[in-house]
Amino acid sequence: MAQSTETQKSEAGWVPRTNVGRMVQVGQIVSLEDIFTQGLKINEPEIVDILLPGLKQEVLGIGFVQKQTDAGEKSRFKAIVAVGNGTGFLGVGGAKMRQVRSAIDKATLQAKLNVVPIRRGCGSWECGCGQAHSIPFRVRGKCGSVGIEIIPGPRGLGLVGGETPKTILTLAGVKDCWTRSFGSTSTLGSMAYAVYEALLSTYRIVTPKDWVT
Ligand SMILES: [Zn+2]
Repeated sequence: MAQSTETQKSEAGWVPRTNVGRMVQVGQIVSLEDIFTQGLKINEPEIVDILLPGLKQEVLGIGFVQKQTDAGEKSRFKAIVAVGNGTGFLGVGGAKMRQVRSAIDKATLQAKLNVVPIRRGCGSWECGCGQAHSIPFRVRGKCGSVGIEIIPGPRGLGLVGGETPKTILTLAGVKDCWTRSFGSTSTLGSMAYAVYEALLSTYRIVTPKDWVT
């Protein structure tokens, strides 16, 4: 994986615009788990800056988009960014802007707003160690024409598959998995969102183990 850089913090001098933001600032909410278990929404990136120190970011892709409008040709840079804390929180975001730098910055903010918990576990029948090195079961995601399947692997396997899935899984803190992708996997953004959606479903699917807790 490429060198991850730590995301820029923006909470200095922050004036929260939302209730959740105010509760985070005064310390009434001290973890992202609180936000998700109460069904609250993250509408300000500073919430993530405060609650997930050490969040890393990766630029997954940059493209150039041109569009004909009534006012003439409009060109923009498109950036796709993933953020993660390496222990189960992940976000993916995209943005189109006139400049590369501002596209990356805006995509990073979007990724922070999209941060979700990822359930990790050991869903590998060959392994069965019960530790959080992989995912608990096989998951699938789709975006546009791109599909991805993520399959739990035994400890020590590492990440097997394309660069984008591997980068995102690493940011989420998943170490051992096979990934299989389908469709036009070079489509900028689609692969990233497909992986994000697949990992999201680690929490959507309720397994019998959850019924007793
Ligand atoms: Zn295991």
